[in-house]
Amino acid sequence: MKHAAFAVNGPETSDCSLCPNACRIAEGHRGRCRGRGRKNGNLVVHNYGVIVSAHMDPIEKKPLYHFYPGRSILSVGSYGCNLSCRFCQNCEISQHEVNGEFIPPQKLAQSASTIPENLGVAFTYNEPGISYEYILESAPLIHNLGLKVVLVTNGYLSDAPWRNLCGCTDAMNIDLKGFTDEFYANICGGKLAPVLKNIQSAHEAGVHLELTNLIVPELNDDPGYFEEMITWIASLSTEIPLHLSRYFPHYKENAPPTSPELLEDFRVRAARKLKNVFIGNVSPTEANNSCCPDCGQIWVERHGYSVHIKSPGTTCTCGRRKSVHGI
Ligand code: SF4
Repeated sequence: MKHAAFAVNGPETSDCSLCPNACRIAEGHRGRCRGRGRKNGNLVVHNYGVIVSAHMDPIEKKPLYHFYPGRSILSVGSYGCNLSCRFCQNCEISQHEVNGEFIPPQKLAQSASTIPENLGVAFTYNEPGISYEYILESAPLIHNLGLKVVLVTNGYLSDAPWRNLCGCTDAMNIDLKGFTDEFYANICGGKLAPVLKNIQSAHEAGVHLELTNLIVPELNDDPGYFEEMITWIASLSTEIPLHLSRYFPHYKENAPPTSPELLEDFRVRAARKLKNVFIGNVSPTEANNSCCPDCGQIWVERHGYSVHIKSPGTTCTCGRRKSVHGI
């Protein structure tokens, strides 16, 4: 499927400026993300509306723990990604061109609205940022039907398109993959600074924001850099939920899986500065309940994807306003 790419102003040395990769793209070739290329002299979006994966997922699986807990959301993904993380857990669709079904924005929104109890549409699985035009066109249609728009993203986009996405998104989970330039450059093929800037602008735009950090042994498990990352997140807001996720060997990375002990150690370190720290890809743990930071009352109890709202309402019995939407 071919679709003209929106004009995204950028340096004259690049053809596509949608993301910081700023690709030069020769006729008949594609950019690094594989989703966008040049044909007959024009920039085109090859993966426009090409849906490779579509499932009803618990919102907790995105992961979003403080955004309508216990609800399910239609989750869709295409192919391609503008990063190339050695440990990519979705490399089958992120690092290859994959066939899918063309679903135009109107049909996507309409389909989402016919699913009982559906919260909305989550753009996920591959990197949604490279489907910029598709999301920008779909989001108002989804909103008009009373549904929410969610992005699960690496946050690696140029400033202007990122702000446009923030303007039409209700909630995001952004991957903060590490906290050094070297890690982003050598392991992910990107840069740290644009991701930090975009996390900050999503927060300032009022998007409900949660972060995920996949901890890979010996690659990004340095306690010093981790501490710096936690301090930086806390400087934005100590309320931002952080998901520390267990890595398993995949794609080009053979390091052993993250030990549950290391995850728990990092959870405790992070919880010294952040109020909502969770661990993922491990057996269910009490640490994944959402509790009042002031009085300790359990607001949301979780056993894996089984969710119980223990304390409905917007305010805790101690008077604290809850940081959980939709309970
Ligand atoms: S969106 Fe794709 S084609 Fe455009 S600059 Fe980024 S990687 Fe290159």
